Amino acid sequence: MGKALAIRILQTLEENGFEAYFVGGCVRDWLLGRPVHDIDICTNAHPGDVIRLFPDHVPTGLKHGTVSVKIDGHFFEVTTYRTEGKYEDYRRPSDVQFVDDLRLDLERRDFTMNAMAMDLRDHLQDPFAGRDDLARKLVRAVGDPEERFREDALRLLRAVRFSAQLGFAIEAHTQNAMKQTAPLLAHIAVERVREELNKMLASAAPEKGCQLLCETKLLDYSPLLSQLFVQSTNHAWRLVHLTTLSQKWAMLMYAAGSSVSSAREVCTQLRMSKKETEACVTLVELLLRIQPRWDEPKAIEWGPLLLEAGWEVCTDLAALLQGCWWNRQDEELALTLRKAHEAMPIKTIKELAVSGLDLQTALQKKPGEWIWRTLATLLSQVALHGLPNTPEDLLEAAKKEVARNEY
Ligand code: ATP
Ligand code: MG
Repeated sequence: MGKALAIRILQTLEENGFEAYFVGGCVRDWLLGRPVHDIDICTNAHPGDVIRLFPDHVPTGLKHGTVSVKIDGHFFEVTTYRTEGKYEDYRRPSDVQFVDDLRLDLERRDFTMNAMAMDLRDHLQDPFAGRDDLARKLVRAVGDPEERFREDALRLLRAVRFSAQLGFAIEAHTQNAMKQTAPLLAHIAVERVREELNKMLASAAPEKGCQLLCETKLLDYSPLLSQLFVQSTNHAWRLVHLTTLSQKWAMLMYAAGSSVSSAREVCTQLRMSKKETEACVTLVELLLRIQPRWDEPKAIEWGPLLLEAGWEVCTDLAALLQGCWWNRQDEELALTLRKAHEAMPIKTIKELAVSGLDLQTALQKKPGEWIWRTLATLLSQVALHGLPNTPEDLLEAAKKEVARNEY
């Protein structure tokens, strides 16, 4: 569908005397028979021409030659052939020059498999033999690998990520250059590092990515991250059985022997959102509490965990454990969790037949932390230990609790 719309852009450009090609990731993925999620187009038309030919557009990155053209509600990036000027800070060129030669545009791209272009008639332009590298399942830098990584150190992580996504090896010279230039990754914005690591973790072969990170010592600039991947290396194969990123990060952290505070530190260092951080740290906290062993499933007492962490977090935890221990088709753990959930007559403090105020009045005590503590104990007794949820039973139990704790 996307391609049919994008073809119209190529046609219009050609009809007006310009060259136009599909380029980069979409060509690679078509050749591999993989789903394509964004179609990029390159052309010798300058941005001014593109804007004139396609009134429905957004000038996304005019300085870099990119115009987003809208066709039937879908956007396609149309970028003028360009070379890149001097690189500053190991990331992004300071300026770009528009050129008239497709080869020069392909030359600036990172890997041979990403440096191919295809025209309307399916003719492939492949000056760096990217197609052969696809057949050999190799990630290979275009030109001198060390120079390319020095220009833009993000490419180091892109190499690892593509290798994990496609199950490709990294060509020897390219991998060697990665080891040489690894420290440059320290110059890359944390958010970009995180996005690449996330794509790697979400890929089809994340264990391959983890292994490469360790082999090339890419993360040595950050002892925290480097240790995480080195120490969890024997468990990386479990990643592919997990579904969410927080499950994946939490599993690695637990496998690496992280404490709750170092788990939080990794999240902070990667500038994860508050939500992602909480999801991940909570999972680590619960894993540390139940201390599952990797070699055998452990009977888990879900009740107290459900009361404390809630249904959603526990489902996430169950999915994590399920993925790590058993075949994912096996529903057993999810079933035990659901049964434990259903067995609880009430699940929250709000559902108790007495309120904090009731306790205060009945016990004639000043408000204080004792109220919440007592309510939490009452909830646990009702939910898990058969205490009837009536005001009389609850008040009696509360009196005992207060006396026992000398509140
Ligand atoms: P995907 O979109 O599946 O993650 P992609 O190859 O399309 O992979 P994009 O980031 O969308 O990656 O970039 C599109 C194209 O731009 C790439 O295929 C590559 O040719 C070029 N490119 C992107 N980032 C870089 C980079 N850091 N250095 C050199 N070329 C790059
Ligand atoms: Mg892309």
